Amino acid sequence: MWQAEVRIDLDAIRDNVAMLRASTRAEVMAVVKADGYGHGMLPSARAALAGGATWLGVATLTEALALRAQGITAPVLAWLHAPGVPLRDGVAAGVDLSAGGVAQLGELVEAARSAQRPARAHLKLDTGLARGGATADEWPALLDAAAKARADGDVEVVGIWSHFVSADDPGAEITDRQLAAFADGLAVAERHDIRPRYRHIANSAATLSRPDAHFDLVRTGIAIYGLSPIEGRRFGLRPAMTARARVAQTKRVPAGQGVSYGHAYHTDRETTLALIPLGYGDGVPRHASNVGPVEVGGAVRTIAGRVCMDQVVLDCGDDPVTPGDVATLFGAERPTADDWAAAIGTINYEIVTRFGGSRVPRVYDGSAGRGAGDGEAG
Ligand SMILES: *Cc1c(COP(=O)(O)O)cnc(C)c1O
Repeated sequence: MWQAEVRIDLDAIRDNVAMLRASTRAEVMAVVKADGYGHGMLPSARAALAGGATWLGVATLTEALALRAQGITAPVLAWLHAPGVPLRDGVAAGVDLSAGGVAQLGELVEAARSAQRPARAHLKLDTGLARGGATADEWPALLDAAAKARADGDVEVVGIWSHFVSADDPGAEITDRQLAAFADGLAVAERHDIRPRYRHIANSAATLSRPDAHFDLVRTGIAIYGLSPIEGRRFGLRPAMTARARVAQTKRVPAGQGVSYGHAYHTDRETTLALIPLGYGDGVPRHASNVGPVEVGGAVRTIAGRVCMDQVVLDCGDDPVTPGDVATLFGAERPTADDWAAAIGTINYEIVTRFGGSRVPRVYDGSAGRGAGDGEAG
């Protein structure tokens, strides 16, 4: 008997990747950072590879090394390193590493010498996001340093890449300006005799809406989990995560009953309250107090009062809800992670990612990426 669970449909991840793969001539990098956006990094990676992804993307070296330690041999790119992180371990494990400036490239060179093999570098150009990467002014110096490191046998330049500001807004003109800046950066690189195999800039939104941004590789995160990065469009994606719990207790209360901490909700009639054993300690945002939608018995109810650490309460009216009934916070049907995002003023990414590393057991459905007999689950 389960009390609360996060179910992950691995076949949905595989099929979403296969759909993206079929929509582009570029290779697909499945982004599995942040514990696979809450879906589990390793099972998500395997399901994505089964769907035709040929690369995996993560933010940190630690994440990349965890993939390698668990037997993933596909190319893995890690793109966010503070000075002093053990890049040597990444080079030794054959992890591709981003270099966003001359100093960082120097760290890759040091790591390569220590590991006694060339570092696989992706040079990052900042085309306007003003997050990581070399500005247009810094770009020639980074290219000079990369050309020298390549000549010394310390670095192989595998990629040149950048990241979009507003690809989720199909009308944003900054996207065109960034594509022009990326083209300029590639031209400057050519003049430095740097023509890497992989040029990449597209996230999920650009993959789904800007074929002219695909280049050689697309870095898709949210879309592989079946959620749309562009409001109001579904693109035929299938959400992979369902968060649900069993009703722990029900009770009849009179009109005017205050509910949960602070009595931020009062019943307006005699009604049945249902106690749902999921709270902010599990990933339910506390901002969902009085607004988060939950389906129980076919009806979508709104959380009554404050979200607690371990539980929430639903006001179910005269519905015949009983202990043990299944209450679904979000899944492939309504309510969805998008409904939750709209209710609390965030994005679907945050809703699912909050359930990563959660107290709630993750249960995997489907066969995608599970090797015969390896019994990988949970
Ligand atoms: C997270 C991330 C992605 C994936 O973005 P989605 O919008 O989830 O597709 C791609 N590239 C970089 C650099 C990222 O940080």
